[in-house]
Amino acid sequence: MHKDFSEILVSEEQIYQRCVEMGKEITDYYTAKGSIPLLVSVLKGSSFFLTELSKRINMDVEVDFMCMESYHGTESTGDVHIVMDLDRSIQDCDILLIEDIVDTGKTLKKVKGILNNKGARDVKVASLLDKPSRRVVDEKADFVGFVIPDKFVVGFGLDYNQKYRTLPYIGVLKEELYK
Ligand code: 5GP
Repeated sequence: MHKDFSEILVSEEQIYQRCVEMGKEITDYYTAKGSIPLLVSVLKGSSFFLTELSKRINMDVEVDFMCMESYHGTESTGDVHIVMDLDRSIQDCDILLIEDIVDTGKTLKKVKGILNNKGARDVKVASLLDKPSRRVVDEKADFVGFVIPDKFVVGFGLDYNQKYRTLPYIGVLKEELYK
């Protein structure tokens, strides 16, 4: 375990297994619906999850990326703006938004609003992690990897001041490092 962590919350093996399961859930959902979603990943955090999950979706999906600036330190401001936009039209597309974590839900609400304003037909959400105890707006992911307690986590795409993203598991950062 990394020396800056107090515990490992989700192991590499658990993430891998859950991505296989979620890939099947998503494939079954869109097969029944009769459509193929465009996967939209919000950089940088969710790109690691996108890479693992997309391999398990058994359809010819396309991917696109957006970069939003929303989070400073360990508290969400909810003040999200686009730093890098999608490079194609999503008019009348079914979108599967790939998120790293839904915490207060403010970011998800903003991003879904942006995608709807761009003319998406439908926006569903797949999030690796969900912290429901911290929710302040009525938003949730449609496909959730792991529900976790109210702890500040890093790894598998999640950072603290741009560090720890490349760790292959999710760990709890020692409080003394950010408090
Ligand atoms: P929300 O707007 O739902 O509060 O927060 C969404 C964003 O906050 C996530 O995309 C992520 O960047 C960041 N975030 C929320 N909780 C955590 C956490 O426990 N660890 C890290 N590293 N980022 C978090």
